[in-house]
Amino acid sequence: VLYNQVQDLKGAIRVYCRVRPFLPGQPNGQSTVDYIGENGNIMIFNPLKRGKDARRVFSFNKVYGTNVTQEQIYADTQPLIRSVLDGFNGCIFAYGQTGSGKTYTMSGPDLTSEETWGVNYRALRDLFQLSKARADIVKYEVGVQMIEIYNEKVRDLLVSDGSNRRLDIRNNSQLNGLNVPDASWVPVTCTQDVLDLMRIGQKNRAVGATALNERSSRSHSVLTVHVLGKELVSNAILRGCLHLVDLAGSERVDKSEAVGERLKEAQHINRSLSALGDVISALAQKSTHIPYRNSKLTQVLQDSLGGQAKTLMFVHINPELNALGETISTLKFAERVA
Ligand code: ADP
Ligand code: MG
Repeated sequence: VLYNQVQDLKGAIRVYCRVRPFLPGQPNGQSTVDYIGENGNIMIFNPLKRGKDARRVFSFNKVYGTNVTQEQIYADTQPLIRSVLDGFNGCIFAYGQTGSGKTYTMSGPDLTSEETWGVNYRALRDLFQLSKARADIVKYEVGVQMIEIYNEKVRDLLVSDGSNRRLDIRNNSQLNGLNVPDASWVPVTCTQDVLDLMRIGQKNRAVGATALNERSSRSHSVLTVHVLGKELVSNAILRGCLHLVDLAGSERVDKSEAVGERLKEAQHINRSLSALGDVISALAQKSTHIPYRNSKLTQVLQDSLGGQAKTLMFVHINPELNALGETISTLKFAERVA
């Protein structure tokens, strides 16, 4: 192992909480986030309650306030990402209700400005740079897949013809994390390649949806980076696989209002997010049985959750008062997996 920085990540599962700012053009109401401590504590304030019931503290590995930059977020993610070049697997999740900043963290608000690029682009840029820096020692190939899981069906987002092919999952350790072997696998060598692919992915994601936003908030999107390295002297092979996951919105849908398709979607999302929570908390507790089989999402990620693999979850908070109920349930979910 060359530049193994995995030790920087104490413990295999880390939870980082990010609070998004109030958005321009919105009334700048009172924030439900009362206090953020250096030590990973966040205090939530409920103005509708009195006395000690009004405040509640949650603890994570890190908590970021509204002024954190995309660069700082990436800096704390980098050790996990770089460990892929040493042959480790990993998963990075963005969790939170719709509108809390998941896509902002993973992709960024605007691809034309590098300054606001999210984790996905920064990760690939970094992997390209580092693999070039090591070119005398290891020859690397990097490829990506991009899939969407919607209503427990897996679809390829990198098909150029927009066909709605439904894909099977195969769990086979021989596949080294390539658990959706029929999804397009595209070699990439520079960030421009990645940007081009992301555009195709975005376009395919919109197929069949009434509005892009609607669909993207109800499906999980998974960008998988596969790395194959060949050490030049020893001919040893290194394989690493990193899943970058923008999860479906975690908000509970009012059962009295949701009917038909909408209710079905909501049930699939609830089930798959709780299956993910169950897997991560079983791993955190070093349980002997890890319930991977309960959702498509955990099946796809199986080889990269647990074992030697590293997991990082960003949980996102919308500080508005009307989001308080979801904020509390997001923090409870996160506390369960931390
Ligand atoms: P989600 O993917 O969770 O539904 P988005 O990432 O689309 O949420 O964020 C919702 C809105 O908030 C977008 O307009 C986005 O640009 C903005 N936003 C989210 N996080 C931040 C942040 N940290 N700083 C500034 N704006 C943000
Ligand atoms: Mg989003």
